[in-house]
Amino acid sequence: MKDTPAAVIRLQKVSKTYRIGDSEVRAMQDISLEIQANEFVAIMGPSGSGKSTMLHILGLLDRPDQGAYYLEGRDVSKLGDDALASLRNRCAGFIFQQFHLLPRMSALQNVALPLIYSNQNHMLFKAEERIRSVGLEERKSHKPNELSGGQQQRVAIARSLVNDPLIIFADEPTGNLDSKSEEEIIGILRNLHRQGKTVVMVTHERDLAEMASRIICMRDGRIISDQAVKKTPRAKTEVPPAGSQDRSKAYAQKNKMFLTEMAENLRQGFQALLTNKMRSFLSMLGILIGVASVIAMLALGKGAEVSMQKSMSSLGTNLLSIRSGGFHRGGVAQEAGAVTRFTLQDAEALAKVPHIKRVSAGVSGRGQAVYGNKNWSTTIRGNGLDYAAMRAAVPVLGRYFNTAEMQRRARVAVLGQTLVDELFGGGNPVGRIIKINRIQFQVIGVLPKKGEGFGGNQDDTVVIPVTTAMYRMLGKKFVDAIDVEIDDLKFMEKAEEAIRSLLVKRHNVRPEDEEDAFSIRNMAEMQEALKSMTKTMTMLLGCIAAISLLVGGIGIMNIMLVSVTERTREIGLRKAIGARKKDIMLQFLIEAVVMTICGGVMGIATGVGIAVLITAFTGWVVSVSVSSVLVVTLFSIMVGLVFGLWPAQKAAELNPIEALRYE
Ligand code: ADP
Ligand code: MG
Repeated sequence: MKDTPAAVIRLQKVSKTYRIGDSEVRAMQDISLEIQANEFVAIMGPSGSGKSTMLHILGLLDRPDQGAYYLEGRDVSKLGDDALASLRNRCAGFIFQQFHLLPRMSALQNVALPLIYSNQNHMLFKAEERIRSVGLEERKSHKPNELSGGQQQRVAIARSLVNDPLIIFADEPTGNLDSKSEEEIIGILRNLHRQGKTVVMVTHERDLAEMASRIICMRDGRIISDQAVKKTPRAKTEVPPAGSQDRSKAYAQKNKMFLTEMAENLRQGFQALLTNKMRSFLSMLGILIGVASVIAMLALGKGAEVSMQKSMSSLGTNLLSIRSGGFHRGGVAQEAGAVTRFTLQDAEALAKVPHIKRVSAGVSGRGQAVYGNKNWSTTIRGNGLDYAAMRAAVPVLGRYFNTAEMQRRARVAVLGQTLVDELFGGGNPVGRIIKINRIQFQVIGVLPKKGEGFGGNQDDTVVIPVTTAMYRMLGKKFVDAIDVEIDDLKFMEKAEEAIRSLLVKRHNVRPEDEEDAFSIRNMAEMQEALKSMTKTMTMLLGCIAAISLLVGGIGIMNIMLVSVTERTREIGLRKAIGARKKDIMLQFLIEAVVMTICGGVMGIATGVGIAVLITAFTGWVVSVSVSSVLVVTLFSIMVGLVFGLWPAQKAAELNPIEALRYE
């Protein structure tokens, strides 16, 4: 490569034709051209004669349809997009009529941009140096809209120089400037030329073109004249050949550079988000709502599980519940005669079965409890002596009834918390006399608080001896159910069998009637069933929430597409200064992920807030788990990646020159 003659640029019969519908525009026709190192070439010609097209092809922004292009002796017309991008980044510096500075970045950041794409952000001092060389040191932290046109163009020149390119390409660099700025810009370009750079400039103005060393005139896609203006000493260029700067060091720093590019992308992502605060917020709303509902739903499900477990454990796992009538009839006796009805004697007999630890027979009914002028309708439960121990219902105040009271059908009552609150305003009721269904009872104890459970408020109840309930109050001859506690879970099946055969024997149940006669329910099995039910519910809620996350993702995709369209020119410019596909892709993906993560974080906060509110207002136990927060965060990153992918790809695929021309 180094042995090739000094021709930096050599075009061989290059043609470029644009097709719009049926019509063809031949922007370049068979152009052959050589430009030597350290030439200052001005390209002139009427509008539409193909000057910009040629400049773009020379600057590797576009490809010829036909012909060959040798840059430093190397055929570049067959190079891939990314190879072109890095070559462009190192060899070509662009100056456009419209400056094409990125509006949200300071002058210095604009100048430093090509360094990022060539993985040299450790060379940031170069950006400072270049901005000083165009005389804008005090303005380096200004945004483009705070600079005059001439100053903006000087920033653009500094940017084009930051990577020490071989050639400067300028497309009507003074077209948008007043004559004073025009002079400054031309002065800078001439200086660059004097320092050994090769400059190719398109201009309309004869006197500007005269500053160059050579003027090429074009018309209708052809070169019609090509003259030297005056002799310039051909100083050998002292610009180092592209890519020769310590490669090993560059490689070692590659990882670090990648991180810096990520950091830069993150910064830009947040900046883009902040620039369009309202728009970003609205687009994030979908994610926010999705994440908030996932968090709240999972918390609620978890809370339901926890409270269910709590009320379950108060039931005990080694309990069996024996009821009249078949299980499959929903507990409702239908065929009289087939149904077995149990008595207190059955309970006594059951107590003697091996492995049975405790037995309690029970009846229940509704009743009116009255104390003074207070009046409360409640559930009356007649229970056995062992009930307190079996069902975790040992009174917190006072005591439970005893054998003597059971035997003489004493009128003693143990109150649930709700009754204590309703009849006694929360005060101590022990020793007081209340009336239940017009019968006087002495309050002897208060049950522990149980809260909501199956079949409503577990505290809205009054417990009295089962004998009193059956014979004095409810007028029942049979018990509703018998609860049995087995001494060890492993004897559950054995005990169940023993109970079954005992009951069959005692009641002369015919084998064919056994199913209808009575049922034995295993609490452990019920708990399992309930547990899996809550799990299913949680999953279902989670799915609904996940769907809303997907909907949120579509919102993100939509806004990202808008963003890509809006910033087409920015993308074109980034590509012009050397961004590869993956750089652009990364930039937009990160922007999408930044948006979904922000939405996710706000959503987590909202979800936790909702959970806290639910706890405060309903008293439900709601618990937000760390794992759900992690899962949701991961999920929102995923949503960003998945739904950002298409817009990012769309951005990365843009043709640089079409993107630059996009209005
Ligand atoms: P100049 O810079 O000399 O004014 P251009 O190189 O921009 O001219 O354009 C040369 C011709 O090619 C013009 O006729 C223009 O309309 C046409 N042209 C340029 N770019 C495109 C394009 N992307 N699609 C179709 N026609 C184009
Ligand atoms: Mg043009």
